[in-house]
Amino acid sequence: MPLCVPMLHGNEWVYVKECLDTNWVSTAGPFVARFEAALAERLGARDAVACASGTAALHLALLVTGVQPGDEVIVPTLTFIAPANAVRYVGAHPVFVDVDARYWQIDTDKLAEFLASAYAYQNGKLRNRTTGRTLTAIISVDLLGHPSDADRIAFFAQQYGLRTIEDATESLGARYKSRWAGRLADVGCLSFNGNKIVTTGGGGALVSDRLDWIERARYLSTQAKDDPLEQIHASVGFNYRLTNLQAAVGVAQLEFLDQHVDAKRKIACIYREQLSGVPGVMFQEEADWAQSTFWLFTAVLDPAHAAVDSRTALRRLMHAGIECRLLWQPLHLSPAHGGAFASRCAVAESLAQRALSLPSSVGLSRADQERVVAAFKAALA
Ligand SMILES: *Cc1c(COP(=O)(O)O)cnc(C)c1O
Repeated sequence: MPLCVPMLHGNEWVYVKECLDTNWVSTAGPFVARFEAALAERLGARDAVACASGTAALHLALLVTGVQPGDEVIVPTLTFIAPANAVRYVGAHPVFVDVDARYWQIDTDKLAEFLASAYAYQNGKLRNRTTGRTLTAIISVDLLGHPSDADRIAFFAQQYGLRTIEDATESLGARYKSRWAGRLADVGCLSFNGNKIVTTGGGGALVSDRLDWIERARYLSTQAKDDPLEQIHASVGFNYRLTNLQAAVGVAQLEFLDQHVDAKRKIACIYREQLSGVPGVMFQEEADWAQSTFWLFTAVLDPAHAAVDSRTALRRLMHAGIECRLLWQPLHLSPAHGGAFASRCAVAESLAQRALSLPSSVGLSRADQERVVAAFKAALA
């Protein structure tokens, strides 16, 4: 039983066939614009730029918001590595902050303390007292589909003059108070990788109300072509475009976004119900100001009360044919980002030791889920 696989409903065939029948298979063609318009409309954004991956969207977001080589960008330490890598792509340095113990999002109390203690103004710039580098942006990551506390992050960003980027690659369809995830920062980044809420096979998008940034992102994503007749490029751009074929799949998938989120939430609800009595098992909580997508339902095994640790449970479940996953290695410990500046990140370290994500495909049947529950209980016996 796979951890998380796509659910394709039927219009994908119709729209892809339309691409093939009309010969529009590459980056030109009507579905790219349709997909961008559908995303912008769905999220209530002024515009969206489709791109080749969520990682590409993060890279473009850092470029258009003006993060410079040598700058620092705050990233929560517990996340898939993509946002920290994107910071490095622009020659900047990720600095890592811990997540909170209940919702597992960037801890805004620790963020406040970190900003006040690690940074000081010098010549009008917010400089790291240790590294001497300038802090210019915060990337919040809506981990496992639960939004970050965007109002508090926006408050600090305002206070310190920082740009905000939301990594909403796991949270499309989630809500923060009355707002959609993806709309909680200056720029939102989405992913349509195969294991995300909706997929294009592989792909991403950047959404924002800043049309100048949107235009810049679109320009940079298409090799920064200034004069298509004379073939003149004024900047170094990227080939980050989504193809019409992929966008066709995306348009079909977006029609089912609400159903997918509902299905994930239902799966999470059943897991919580069925597993809440198991000794030593706890879950990522949902804040009363949030509606998570529960992209991957994730349990935590308390070593003081659970019969086995997360690695043993993982091995047993994998052996039973049930694909589970540990959370990511906290990035302040990652060899890829060795030497990065970080606050103390005890919560993330503990979660990485104890958490286990369970099969969460949109199409997971009730019978399959019962199998997972039984195997999970057996693994913990
Ligand atoms: C999936 C994901 C991304 C981007 O992924 P792509 O595979 O590049 O589309 C970025 N950040 C997080 C937290 C993710 O889970």
